[in-house]
Amino acid sequence: MPPCSSTTRTLDDIVNLVPDYKFRDKKDGSLNIDLNPGGVLTPTLESIGLPCLKCVAKSQDPCYADRLELASWLKMQGYRDMAITAFFRDCKWQNFNVGKTMTILASIKPRFPKCSYLRERYSNCNGCSFKR
Ligand SMILES: [Zn+2]
Repeated sequence: MPPCSSTTRTLDDIVNLVPDYKFRDKKDGSLNIDLNPGGVLTPTLESIGLPCLKCVAKSQDPCYADRLELASWLKMQGYRDMAITAFFRDCKWQNFNVGKTMTILASIKPRFPKCSYLRERYSNCNGCSFKR
């Protein structure tokens, strides 16, 4: 996104202004492959399901590779880029940028998390379903 000095609106503001964009909390933690046509589901801490990735979400400033693991998994669950961005923003990480996040998310493919990597960083991954 090129810098623009003629507006004081941030991408955050614009995301908040998108019409007909109804976020709905998802609380049952089930896989969400079918998106609700009346709105877009946003992930919750509970719906992440995996303890290692919950640790990433709860970190103050997870590194890029950690965020990538979480984003890939949320995509695997069927969440849209904008919903993932909204969730990441709610995580209140340091160094979070809406525009950068949306750009990077567009190129991320859905996949299962690399638990071998996460296990080295988060001891909670030992309770993970994908533990190998
Ligand atoms: Zn894990």
